[in-house]
Amino acid sequence: MLNNDQLDRWDRDYFFHPSTHLAQHARGESANRIVTGGSGVYIEDRDGKRSLDAFAGLYCVNVGYGRTEIADAIAAQAKELAYYHAYVGHGTEASITLAKMILERAPDHMSKVYFGLGGSDANETNIKMVWYYNNILGRPEKKKIISRWRGYHGSGLITGSLTGLQTFHNKFDLPLSPILHTEAPYYFRRPDMNMSEEQFVAHCVSELEALIEREGADTIAAFIGEPVLGTGGLVPPPEGYWPAIQAVLKKHDILLIVDEVVTAFGRLGSMFGSAKYNLDADIITIAKGLTSAYAPLSGSIFSKRMWDVLERGTDEFGPIGHGWTYSAHPIGTAAGIANLKLVDSLGLVDNAGSTGAYFKQAMQSAVGEHANVGDVRGEGLLCAVEFVKDRDNRAFFDPSEKVGPRVAAALLSRGVIARAMPQGDIIGFAPPLCISREETDIVVDAMKGAVTEVLG
Ligand code: PLP
Repeated sequence: MLNNDQLDRWDRDYFFHPSTHLAQHARGESANRIVTGGSGVYIEDRDGKRSLDAFAGLYCVNVGYGRTEIADAIAAQAKELAYYHAYVGHGTEASITLAKMILERAPDHMSKVYFGLGGSDANETNIKMVWYYNNILGRPEKKKIISRWRGYHGSGLITGSLTGLQTFHNKFDLPLSPILHTEAPYYFRRPDMNMSEEQFVAHCVSELEALIEREGADTIAAFIGEPVLGTGGLVPPPEGYWPAIQAVLKKHDILLIVDEVVTAFGRLGSMFGSAKYNLDADIITIAKGLTSAYAPLSGSIFSKRMWDVLERGTDEFGPIGHGWTYSAHPIGTAAGIANLKLVDSLGLVDNAGSTGAYFKQAMQSAVGEHANVGDVRGEGLLCAVEFVKDRDNRAFFDPSEKVGPRVAAALLSRGVIARAMPQGDIIGFAPPLCISREETDIVVDAMKGAVTEVLG
């Protein structure tokens, strides 16, 4: 074991951390945290501090920490065959079996799964396949992709462009030109406080229609969205949003990519968010909950109607020119099989629904009436509390007051990890799906204390 102070020095000298203030970190002005272990909903760091991880890492450790069933499956696969590729028809028992297990759980009209490593590369695959699809159909102009402001779809070049959050664009010359953004389905932040939910849905639809009209439907290939907005604020859609949006997309022959990187495999209390909201997806993106992050693995699930065109393309033009060295990596797929078995045997999809409802209700009772709490919302085991300076006129705090990060810090000092979401003072909770009611009580108590400490 390394000397702790030496580890701290090496961390600051050598390690480029994602989503981090690089200069402060290198100068030692911001804290680091070196995590050493985990069990259930708790993690432990090198200083022996135990914290209840109410964000499941990055909403990915759905089965909880320390599951030896998955560790054993990974070890067994590594001993038997650590790697073989999936190009030109190669596979392993693990990759083939997991593809079948995913299709058994996905909506009936889905047909094939392509495996990647993370949500970003899966969405890159999706956009390439959408472009290929329209080229095969002889529609080379139909290439633009519509995403939503506050959507999160990754941080690559195309996927960072799809993401509708400023911090992922600023100084990176993004978004790239084939990507367009439309209104976020964020009722709490509706442009006019007097709008009913129904009027707001009509507004989202007319914004989308206007964008399609401006650009021309024959230039727009696909629309991408998360069933429930994730990183953009953990926002369930307003009633009627998805049916209305899908009607517009169908009218203009625009494909629907449903990004279920957060929501697939139980997070919303249903196996897929697509099933919950009745989404007729052409492609579904999966990642995090596929392996509960025990190994990196993602997938793009293609509908039958899209698959048929991809097949036709290879009959005309030869093998598809797309693939990663680590597509369908046996260790990732072995982890996926063990993980999905655990999701079933522990009843985690149902637990996400029932414990999630209990958690949101308890959060609402604990802090919902506070003068600076504007909204408590959620679906399944996603829950968010949004702060405002003034509830009556929905005035937001100045970002320089850092209300969200201060509440997150006050929670951490009480032993609970939550996430201060970007672009607003929003505290997000997305605990492992195995969390118990008693453990959610601990989170709610800590939140009550943190809110009082920061806002009185
Ligand atoms: N899509 C969604 C909805 C996500 O929440 C994320 C990550 O949080 C991604 C895509 C990108 O996944 P990754 O970070 O694995 O590249």
